[in-house]
Amino acid sequence: MSSKITANKVVTLSYTLRDDEGEVIDQSSDGSPLLYLHGARNIVPGLEEQLDGVAEGESIKATVSPEKGYGPRIGEAQEVPRNLFPADAELAAGMQVVAHDDQGRQIPFFITGITEDTITVDPNHPLAGETLHFEVTVESLRDASDEEIEHGHPHGPGGHPH
Ligand code: ZN
Repeated sequence: MSSKITANKVVTLSYTLRDDEGEVIDQSSDGSPLLYLHGARNIVPGLEEQLDGVAEGESIKATVSPEKGYGPRIGEAQEVPRNLFPADAELAAGMQVVAHDDQGRQIPFFITGITEDTITVDPNHPLAGETLHFEVTVESLRDASDEEIEHGHPHGPGGHPH
């Protein structure tokens, strides 16, 4: 008998992610598969839904719409003065930063470009607006510990690094 993915299982996946053109955008490397806690929103909702009930050792193809992936594109990238950021902030393209508006609400955005005087910020995740095509193999499954369920992420090798 094989176990199946249900809430509160720690799942080890190997995966390849392609865009609509079939280009590989991301994949797990040999020896470092992806570990996540099922039901805790560690991965995009559309993939998590389609993995529900999949058995250990099984492989699936999952197509995920932007709405159930990294969201539709919202707004445009803009250049802002470098001095809006702390002088000692270590900034790099691809980095996610969280700003706060005057109501104290969190506004996450991504840095997409850096010059001496300006930073280009984009409110969109790099994969926003993309339909995601996953090929996923369930490498292993185990029950999560109470502590992992409480934290909402897996521990141990490949788990949350705290
Ligand atoms: Zn933890």
